[in-house]
Amino acid sequence: MSPQHTEFVKRNESYVASFGGKDALPMPPAKKLIVVTCMDARLDPAAHLGLKEGDAHVIRNAGGCVRDALRSLVISQRLLGTREIAVFHHTDCGMLTFTSDALRRIVKDAAPGDAAVAARVDEIDFLEFEDLHASVKEDVAWVTGEALLLPETTVTGWVYDVKSGRVVQVV
Ligand SMILES: [Zn+2]
Repeated sequence: MSPQHTEFVKRNESYVASFGGKDALPMPPAKKLIVVTCMDARLDPAAHLGLKEGDAHVIRNAGGCVRDALRSLVISQRLLGTREIAVFHHTDCGMLTFTSDALRRIVKDAAPGDAAVAARVDEIDFLEFEDLHASVKEDVAWVTGEALLLPETTVTGWVYDVKSGRVVQVV
């Protein structure tokens, strides 16, 4: 497969053609909403939550882990006015399929004898989880208890089903 970047400008043309009035959108999200969700390629949060440009901050990482999103959460709340956080994890998530120790072993085995690589990967908690619903509850509890979170924040937790496209509230 050729590198994807060679197609970007061409694929972007139709989007530019229908860009409309989005040049006038203000920087702060209109719905004062943050969605934290997984980077999984099957998820299109704007589509499945009915959001459009300018509506929300969508913070994505492996698993939709709130701990991994803290830097962005603080910037979003303190500088850009968001007051609601919705945490999404999803069925068939890759985070259910490995352990941090196993992933560290893969990285180390790919660089035999490289002490710098070994030390660096040992510093990372990959924040995998074993139980989907429990992981949503844990993330909501974690962010609710986070000292840097604005106390007036509304926090909810959700599961997105990759087989049906349906979202279900857990917390
Ligand atoms: Zn995932």
